[in-house]
Amino acid sequence: MSENGVTREKILKDYPRMGPDDHFTFECRPGVCCFTRCCQDVSIVLTPYDVLRLTRALRMDSSEFLEKYTLSGFTEKPRFPVVLLKMQGEKKRCPFVGEEGCKVYGNRPWACRMYPLGAAEPQNPNPDEHGFHFLIREELCKGHGEGRSWSVREWVSDQGIEEYDMMGASFKALMLHPEWTKKGEALTPAQLDMLYMACYDLDRFRRFVFESRFLEYFDVDEARVEALQTDDEELLDFAMQWLRFSLFGDKTMRVRHSVMEARQGAAGAEEPAAPPAR
Ligand code: SF4
Ligand code: SF4
Repeated sequence: MSENGVTREKILKDYPRMGPDDHFTFECRPGVCCFTRCCQDVSIVLTPYDVLRLTRALRMDSSEFLEKYTLSGFTEKPRFPVVLLKMQGEKKRCPFVGEEGCKVYGNRPWACRMYPLGAAEPQNPNPDEHGFHFLIREELCKGHGEGRSWSVREWVSDQGIEEYDMMGASFKALMLHPEWTKKGEALTPAQLDMLYMACYDLDRFRRFVFESRFLEYFDVDEARVEALQTDDEELLDFAMQWLRFSLFGDKTMRVRHSVMEARQGAAGAEEPAAPPAR
């Protein structure tokens, strides 16, 4: 993946690493000569929580939102489904930018909140390597050196990123799972679709949970089942736990005893497989 067209390798090699108390000077406001220029011809990767927030703000079904506003693709290693905002028209403008600025400002994606900062994480868990922030300086953006000085910590708080990071923690745990190195290349098209659905197409995932035999298979607390019907954040967190169980065998889901017994009775079956996602 890249940050605003810059490769990960270049970021690791050339960009000064910033910690929470490092400072930069920056101002972005309506009236600045470059206003909304950063909202065109740009690759904005959406996290699952970005999709959830935008879908809810626009009162759309997640499948409809994904179809209308996003493009999908895959990262390389591991091969993982990603969605990007679909830019529109000759100038490749964000579908949510207007004369007054961002029309979904209160629900704008993580990358839009974070700009002009980027964030990098070590690809594999490593006690000697930590995540860090870095400053993105682009010719088009005239906000650098203007206004007040911000520490990284202050910027993250001011832009409402903490909530996004908190809600993104279970997705991050999935993305950085150590087992990817062993099986990332081996995912089948059905598994990739399962990943896409559970990460981004939450309304479809909800139908899968409630309209398939899912709840006959997994033992989920009654209170949680109730929450999953209406609480999107709860459903997203649950989806990440189901993916960790299904892909890596993590003990994040409880299979019903009756299912275990039936499986153990069947010839040679030691571990139950997850029910199919469709
Ligand atoms: S979502 Fe808003 S801030 Fe982000 S690119 Fe679109 S218009 Fe700009
Ligand atoms: S280009 Fe920079 S200063 Fe101009 S609107 Fe975008 S973020 Fe703000």
